[in-house]
Amino acid sequence: MRYSAWQVFRQGLTGNRGWAPVWRDPDPSPEYDIIIIGGGGHGLATAYYLARKYGMKNIAVLEKGYIGGGNVGRNTTIVRANYFLNGNSEFYSHSLKLWEGLEQELNFNVMHSQRGLINLFHSDGQRDAFARRGNAMINQGDDAVLLDREGVRRYLPYLDFEQGRFPVYGGLLHPRGGTARHDAVAWGYARGADARGVDLIQNCEVTGIDIRGGAVVGVQTSRGPIAARKVGIVVAGRSGQVAAMAGMRLPVESHVLQAFVTEGLKPVIDHVVSFGMGHFYISQSDKGGLVFGGDLDFYASYAQRGNLPMKEHVMEAAMTLMPMIGKAKVLRSWGGIMDMTPDGSPIIDKTGIEGLFIDCGWCYGGFKAVPASGDCFAHLIATGQPHEVAQAFRLDRFRSGRGLLDEEGTGAQHNLH
Ligand SMILES: Cc1cc2nc3c(=O)[nH]c(=O)nc-3n(C[C@H](O)[C@H](O)[C@H](O)COP(=O)(O)OP(=O)(O)OC[C@H]3O[C@@H](n4cnc5c(N)ncnc54)[C@H](O)[C@@H]3O)c2cc1C
Repeated sequence: MRYSAWQVFRQGLTGNRGWAPVWRDPDPSPEYDIIIIGGGGHGLATAYYLARKYGMKNIAVLEKGYIGGGNVGRNTTIVRANYFLNGNSEFYSHSLKLWEGLEQELNFNVMHSQRGLINLFHSDGQRDAFARRGNAMINQGDDAVLLDREGVRRYLPYLDFEQGRFPVYGGLLHPRGGTARHDAVAWGYARGADARGVDLIQNCEVTGIDIRGGAVVGVQTSRGPIAARKVGIVVAGRSGQVAAMAGMRLPVESHVLQAFVTEGLKPVIDHVVSFGMGHFYISQSDKGGLVFGGDLDFYASYAQRGNLPMKEHVMEAAMTLMPMIGKAKVLRSWGGIMDMTPDGSPIIDKTGIEGLFIDCGWCYGGFKAVPASGDCFAHLIATGQPHEVAQAFRLDRFRSGRGLLDEEGTGAQHNLH
């Protein structure tokens, strides 16, 4: 069913009883050409582009829970292309361009809102770093505006400019940055993939990967064995565990990241704002809740919940930057599992096993990457060659030490990126 203003009008007149299910609920077939393990944003986008761009038909996405139940539905929804290093910047630039056409592409409202992202800085050194980053963004063809203190005050008058522990020196504005509705992105790609014949199989956990003669031949699942010629692993925080089923030890640690949302308020924060002296970033959802987050919980874990000290840290940073937030009531908090690499950049590559591919290591920035990751992973699976904007995301850079993409410059410690 195609969505349009006319459909909304027509369904409204007939009691909204004519909407078709957004995707089918098929049983798994005994065999597919391609299996994608993981029905998160990246897995669904990969299946969508395999079907849409490469005309592949016999594809299944195997999801152990339900579509949208992983990080794709748990993140703070920030979409940006403000990377500094070659290798990263062309990839995220490509992703933002895909975001800008995504609603038309999917015929689905993902509520992409380019409201502008402002990264604050609080010292001369940070100003220099952001000036460099802004120049790199402009060289890449993206947009950046360096704001001084008064420039920031014009956009964000509610910040504490007078008594802050860390005075605001200025900010880097990325006008095309913003947010999107996270689960709508999963639903939009799921709907588009299903419409092109992809089987989306929920409640189907992959428990083993079958390899014969150095090549993948299928997977074991909670719903029985399924044969396949090619298999893509796209399971975010579970990457280490699923790769281990194929005998691989990935350079990835899984860490918890929390997010918070307040009661719905009238519009008050109309940008995405990021504090430069503590880990705190915030935006306001279309429902009115203030959505914010902070740093990782500092220990590796597979639990999708966080600890109290990090909650306190995030609230303190929020109060330091914008004391007005103290009046809002926090309604919910939750956690997601982040697949952190030692250099903070992702992996989209073949493995040493014929027909087995991996897409992981998105750390806490993988939501904005969903369109480009799906596009590039589909390209790799379909053609056997890396996409031109994803050539730097090689798995072997961690073995050789060549081509590391340490955007933060913090060295080989997973939780510092
Ligand atoms: C609190 C928080 C805030 C974030 N904020 C941002 C942000 O503002 N901007 C941004 O760009 N990124 C952000 N991220 C990161 C982003 O959400 C992730 O990097 C991205 O969603 C990961 O990719 P995914 O969507 O495919 O993951 P997921 O949605 O987690 O998909 C992986 C899927 O694999 C499934 N799976 C796992 N094991 C198996 C198995 N054995 N068999 C079958 N299926 C399996 C899981 O159930 C899951 O559904 C944030 C993350 C969190 C948790």
